[in-house]
Amino acid sequence: MSRIVYVNGDYVPEAEAKISVFDRGFLMADGVYEVTSVLAGRMIDFAAHMARLRRSLAELEMDAPAGEAELEAIHREMIARNALEEGMIYMQVTRGAADRDFTYPEGAEPSLVLFTQARPLRDTAGARNGIRVITVPDIRWARRDIKTVQLLAPSMCKMAAKTAGVDDAWMQEDGVVTEGTSNNACIVTAEGTVVTRDLSSDILHGITRAAVLRFAREAQVKVEERAFTVEEARAAAEAFVTSASSFVTPVVEIDGTAIGDGTPGPVARRLRDIYIEESLKAAT
Ligand code: PLP
Repeated sequence: MSRIVYVNGDYVPEAEAKISVFDRGFLMADGVYEVTSVLAGRMIDFAAHMARLRRSLAELEMDAPAGEAELEAIHREMIARNALEEGMIYMQVTRGAADRDFTYPEGAEPSLVLFTQARPLRDTAGARNGIRVITVPDIRWARRDIKTVQLLAPSMCKMAAKTAGVDDAWMQEDGVVTEGTSNNACIVTAEGTVVTRDLSSDILHGITRAAVLRFAREAQVKVEERAFTVEEARAAAEAFVTSASSFVTPVVEIDGTAIGDGTPGPVARRLRDIYIEESLKAAT
């Protein structure tokens, strides 16, 4: 069965979906997106994804493509039409089509596209075995807090990881870790404290990161939001990443160095279990 995608008001089979060649998402990467995970046919943290979308749009002075109630209704319709039980919903918003110019056009209608990806999120090889990462220079722009569709730099970093025969890359600047190519990076100290980079324009403000830190604090796990070095990460007791698609996934190797005993650590495993359990309870 071909997927049904949403394009500017219409639900169409994916092969029939069309967007203008003058769309600024295509010409300028002038667009933002959100990715919401779906478990048991229900969305995880939808309100938080909407809040981040609002912020991304405001930072770029971009009009919203629809009201939030309508965006929610479209998400639900996409789940229903694609019979999505477990997987992701991508929502892409661009400034729309206009003759090519660097300044923002006046009066362009934002483009809105949604598509789904059905895939297992709970039972994954990464969750079972952990993932291996390398560190690479962070070559992205200075506004990583805006969730834009300009994903070429993280694609290049991810390809470097693939070429090196590992699962992902952690990006670093001057020896300090910013985040993973599509996830937030965390380590656990020998004392059991979860350490992850503090929020700024240097990283994306992950929705999963926020939820996991909240759950960790509620479970009496100490949390420190601060920068940490690659060296500190390699010597950590545990490491893990957080994202809407990977939840909490243990990192068992950094730059060829085994983390802890080289298997998924107890803090990461526990936080993953809590995250899934609590997210299922609160899913909408
Ligand atoms: N950091 C980056 C660079 C990302 O691309 C993502 C997700 O795509 C994240 C962090 C995790 O964010 P979230 O938990 O909202 O999925």
